[in-house]
Amino acid sequence: MTLHSAYDPDNIFAKILRGDIPHIGVYEDEIALAFMDIFPQTYGHTLIIPKQVRARNLLDVPSEKLGPYMERVQRVAIAVEKALKPDGLIITQFNGSLAGQTVFHLHFHILPKFTGARLKPHAEGAQADPADLEKLAERIRLAF
Ligand code: 5GP
Repeated sequence: MTLHSAYDPDNIFAKILRGDIPHIGVYEDEIALAFMDIFPQTYGHTLIIPKQVRARNLLDVPSEKLGPYMERVQRVAIAVEKALKPDGLIITQFNGSLAGQTVFHLHFHILPKFTGARLKPHAEGAQADPADLEKLAERIRLAF
């Protein structure tokens, strides 16, 4: 999908927001939803998506929605750090399939980095056990 295609209301994250497919959540309010990536690149890989915004990427999100959303990205990153105590955090985002984007609803990745542990390649991770993700999510939820 190019940078300039129309927003697809049936993308996976739109379905998660509608409750059509399940997710393992760590945070939700009127602005954003954060949940565990089911193909994690690293322990604690968390995604955060804006609500009530038909934005495919960072370029087409209305600017007035960006500030509140980025505040939630920071809030979730702080909770992930507090819960999992990584040695570093990568916070990243892709725009367009050529850049590596695979789901076309704006999202940031929060990727905890631990000394000695390598990141798995983007969009090539194996599916995680939902029971393991649920335990991890509970630790993050308790850190808010
Ligand atoms: P992108 O490639 O668009 O930057 O990131 C999309 C992310 O969504 C990937 O890291 C991928 O593992 C994750 N993902 C894809 N499908 C699902 C799903 O159904 N549930 C969850 N929780 N994550 C998903």
